[in-house]
Amino acid sequence: MARKKNKKFTLEKVEIIDAGAEGKSVGRVEDKVVFVPFVVPGDVVDIFVNRRRKSYFEGVAGKIHQYSDKRVEPRCEHFGVCGGCKWQNMDYKHQLFYKEKQVLESLKRIGKLELHGVRPILASREIFFYRNKLEYTFLNRRWITDFSRDLDFDSLNMNGLGFHIPGMHDRVLDIHNCYLQADPSNDIRLAVKAYADEHKLDYYDVKNWTGLLRNLLIRNTTTGQLMVILVVRDNDQAAISGILDMLAEKFPAITSLMYVINGKTNDIISDLEVHLYKGNPYIMEEMEGLKFKIGPVSFYQTNPKQAFELYKVAREFADLKGDELVYDLYTGTGTIANFVAKQAKKVVGVEYVEAAIEDAYENARLNDIENTAFYAGDLAKVLNEDFIEINGRPDVVITDPPRAGMHENVVRQILAMEPEKVVYVSCNPATQARDVAILAEKYRVEAVQPVDMFPHTQHVENVMKLVRK
Ligand code: SAH
Repeated sequence: MARKKNKKFTLEKVEIIDAGAEGKSVGRVEDKVVFVPFVVPGDVVDIFVNRRRKSYFEGVAGKIHQYSDKRVEPRCEHFGVCGGCKWQNMDYKHQLFYKEKQVLESLKRIGKLELHGVRPILASREIFFYRNKLEYTFLNRRWITDFSRDLDFDSLNMNGLGFHIPGMHDRVLDIHNCYLQADPSNDIRLAVKAYADEHKLDYYDVKNWTGLLRNLLIRNTTTGQLMVILVVRDNDQAAISGILDMLAEKFPAITSLMYVINGKTNDIISDLEVHLYKGNPYIMEEMEGLKFKIGPVSFYQTNPKQAFELYKVAREFADLKGDELVYDLYTGTGTIANFVAKQAKKVVGVEYVEAAIEDAYENARLNDIENTAFYAGDLAKVLNEDFIEINGRPDVVITDPPRAGMHENVVRQILAMEPEKVVYVSCNPATQARDVAILAEKYRVEAVQPVDMFPHTQHVENVMKLVRK
């Protein structure tokens, strides 16, 4: 194993021992770990190292000397290139094992927490077609997967409609088939691509900021409603209505057909006008008889069936009797707040996206829920003495922050408010462990429930019940 400093080299016959938090698997060589994607714990592989750091290497797998018995045949033809489902070659029960391990190790190693009531991870009932939202990108530079020596580049159609190649904003993987969203999601994407190619419409060029077609968003609900949003750069009504009329005719299942003109250099559409072309301005999701209105840019958990399971865990941990004041921090569109409202005296939700707060109120009205109140603002600033004076001291705090976890001010304010219970829903066990370590000053961990919302990815949710000591 000859190695020169800063040169690429190969590590031979490395045994893969773990599946890491970034979606890469982990091997160990002498005193270093090596991160490598698309292999499975138990494999023995050669690794081409393309990055070396003081304490670790990164690389790609070459020859596989031994295949792990944790492997399964990946179902998707795009596996290994697409960034979407990096664990698809690992048997689902082993995916669950590594997710659970990630949660428990974070809580012990980062949080140094004493844990009680640790439950086995809740598996997702569906491991394919579980997403309710996909966003595809049109680019005039697709990633070439059918590469061969005699490829005729001049006659090659370089247009692609699919997902970005990981880490490359200017390259797209043209998707033939994706197992993430139920039918007719694939057919819609393929029909749009066929129409665009037939009519020689320009795909977006990120280098020059030219080209008409930019994004295609498809959202659905468990109730069978379907929203399609076409995002274009220019107000080319002939092309827009050409595509949308074709979709309306071919796919009667579409209940909301929309378009957005985005002449900016970024893909964000929440600050732009969404034009309704046909159908309803929103789709409607349902959960336990409650209705949730989802507009084109509204947030909703992307695995809706498993979100229901997650919310049931949060509600069980909150263990409400009916006379409690509950704070729902990072409430988004108020889904958790409205979901637990019936069991509480009052629920106060806080969230910094104003449009989400409007959705939260709308959802409360829609379901005749009168005991919720919502505030828009940055929690690190809003959750202060005045706020508590106006809204009252909470008996229970439910919190569901983004990956970064809670701002320390928020954690400190929870300690100061001293609710009897804190239910912490997290999509990042590392930041959850960090925050709960601070809360441990006054709280003990009474229950831990990891939940899998995203099969074939390294992502894991975790719900913790903290009770005042
Ligand atoms: N509980 C919701 C969504 C949680 S996602 C649900 O289950 O649907 C986390 C939310 O936190 C996002 O809506 C995000 O906009 C919000 N958020 C992130 N940082 C925030 C901050 N500093 N103050 C208030 N809200 C914040």
